[in-house]
Amino acid sequence: MGMVTAKQSNPANSASKTNGHASNGNTRSIESYAPATGELLGAVKVMDKDAVRMVVDRARKAQAAWAVLPIEERCERLLRLRDAFVERASDLVDIVSKECGKPRNEALAHEVLIVCELITYYCKRAAKILAPEKIELRIFKHKRSTVYFAPRGVIGIISPWNYPFSIPMGDVVAALVTGSAAVVKPSEVAPLTMLKAKEIFDSSGMPEDLLGIVTGDGATGSALIDAGVQKVVFTGGVETGKRVAAACGERLIPCVMELGGKAPLIACSDCDIERTARAIVFGGFANAGQACISVERVYAHESIHDALLARVRELVQKLRVGDPQKDFVDVGAIIFPKQMEIAEKHIADALKKGASLVAGGKRIEGTGQFFEPTILANCNHSMTVMTQEIFGPVVPFMRVTSEDEALELANTSHLGLNAYVFTRNAARGEQIARKVDAGSVVVNDVLINYAIADAPFGGIKQSGFGRVHGDDALRDMAERKHVLNDRLPPPKRDPLWYPYDGKSFHQLSTLFRALYGGGRFFGKIGDWFA
Ligand code: NDP
Repeated sequence: MGMVTAKQSNPANSASKTNGHASNGNTRSIESYAPATGELLGAVKVMDKDAVRMVVDRARKAQAAWAVLPIEERCERLLRLRDAFVERASDLVDIVSKECGKPRNEALAHEVLIVCELITYYCKRAAKILAPEKIELRIFKHKRSTVYFAPRGVIGIISPWNYPFSIPMGDVVAALVTGSAAVVKPSEVAPLTMLKAKEIFDSSGMPEDLLGIVTGDGATGSALIDAGVQKVVFTGGVETGKRVAAACGERLIPCVMELGGKAPLIACSDCDIERTARAIVFGGFANAGQACISVERVYAHESIHDALLARVRELVQKLRVGDPQKDFVDVGAIIFPKQMEIAEKHIADALKKGASLVAGGKRIEGTGQFFEPTILANCNHSMTVMTQEIFGPVVPFMRVTSEDEALELANTSHLGLNAYVFTRNAARGEQIARKVDAGSVVVNDVLINYAIADAPFGGIKQSGFGRVHGDDALRDMAERKHVLNDRLPPPKRDPLWYPYDGKSFHQLSTLFRALYGGGRFFGKIGDWFA
């Protein structure tokens, strides 16, 4: 066997089978196992620096031809790619469901559908979103100013294992719409999904090298940043994010950081208990809680706390956990086994400090990696379960005496990705939402904002910076190029140019005073213009 990284555990242990490294001569590979069954699904190469650079170089060549196509043609071809994803949706659902142990409903709705909607949104609107912007100049009225959205080149996309199709493919779509190429480094924990996506991409008639996939581990991701890419979109944990941002900083490559979350859900005194309870259960346990926008902590007003908790308990008891290949289950597997240890540590810490177990609490013994959907009550901020990212099927409840208290507690977090507010009063919801420190705040719903292609998605604080989805993210994927041109024929001699002398200084001073100092009759001329 080759080196085993922190991400691997022993594949021989059937209860925790996940990806492992194997070596054959000089070639190292990563084997991908199904977390729900332990079945070996395939293996991928660990690509070294040279191999990564070759993929980036090929992508750059393909990009040169792609960038000169009119945007309408690029979008038409991407819509054909969407058709191919729709036609092969069952293959995609199959691989995502197997590689992540994810229920088929989630593989379709949270992965394939999201990508198809994003392609549709961008391709129907891109010509408008990326249309050159005329800037109405304030005082330089003799000039004409236009901002163009130019392709950057090759975009490096480094992605995690929890949504191995929708996260990287969404970024790929944005890159390609703007005329760039994309090279994706999928997580070593779920590398096969993007290879299937690439197979469909190639068979759909898209230029083959325009999308490159570099498989491997963290070192492969680091090699991608070093391979001459023009921008990096990173989605992953905070600590890796810091390393990736530093590497980009060293090379002065712009980057988007989509990092962890600790989404609070504020249940106000006037919330609809049934809807809030269902939202907590879905928002906490979809993808077995392995989502950066999962409900990670509930602040419930004391007047509804007990009724809400009781209803959540009933709903959790009805959840079906198991292998999504066998049956329609609600909650699938734990993709990355270390998440079970993390969940256990948080639960033990909370119980030691006075929390009580309302449901679940432990891993499920037997084949595959499964963890009981867990609800904890009587939690407070001395417990790690309320303050650190869990990224697993654990939802802690805390009783609060007012919405202000909930807000204050919600905002103590070092993370700020998603947040949720439940109230029957839309105006109140809006008011509270505006006070929560998060990139997105959703009133009376959960998770759904990631599926909305029109709206920006991303975090503040240590949840990162930059946005994906929405019009601004598409513009930021491109390079803004400002062209300043003549509106009137330019003079032969410009009064601001050489030579400098007493006369030109006097003229400049007079103009300066007229613009901003103000005269008796005309006031400050500089204020005349909007
Ligand atoms: P990691 O940070 O461990 O890994 C993310 C990606 O970075 C993987 O492809 C990984 O490769 C790669 N990588 C690791 N080290 C380096 C390095 N030094 N240079 C470049 N790339 C590197 O995250 P996880 O995969 O464990 O994902 C879970 C985290 O992702 C959670 O914190 C979650 O909150 C966050 N996340 C954020 C989202 C958002 O939109 N804000 C969405 C989804 C998840 P490899 O896996 O092969 O080691």
